Amino acid sequence: MTSPRKTVLVVEDNEQNLELVQFLLEEAGYLVISARDASAARIAFRRSLPDLVLMDMHLPGRDGLSLVREFRLDPLGGDVPIVAVTAHAMRGDRERFLAGGCTGYIAKPIDAGTFAAQVARYLDAGPAR
Ligand code: MN
Repeated sequence: MTSPRKTVLVVEDNEQNLELVQFLLEEAGYLVISARDASAARIAFRRSLPDLVLMDMHLPGRDGLSLVREFRLDPLGGDVPIVAVTAHAMRGDRERFLAGGCTGYIAKPIDAGTFAAQVARYLDAGPAR
């Protein structure tokens, strides 16, 4: 492989979900950086400026969407694609996430057979704006 590996920041507080997502992404050749809460995510985001963020919408003491809004204001990383990963399936949630700055949405439970392809699609689409 000649092109550099794409970096994906996974923000997820559930250990089982994090392990599964990390496994699937690494198997697909991505470099994975993980963060289990908002403050770790903030540090990792600024330090690594990833190619993509996968954001759990339920973080300890923090609504994931407020963190997305914060990342969108970052002068360097404001256009990084951020994909919401959540079990939320209520009417209007998808629209709320997109309006709040998310690039897209992947539903939990994670489908191990299609997850890497979904991530690749968002990476191929390029910057969020
Ligand atoms: Mn969570």
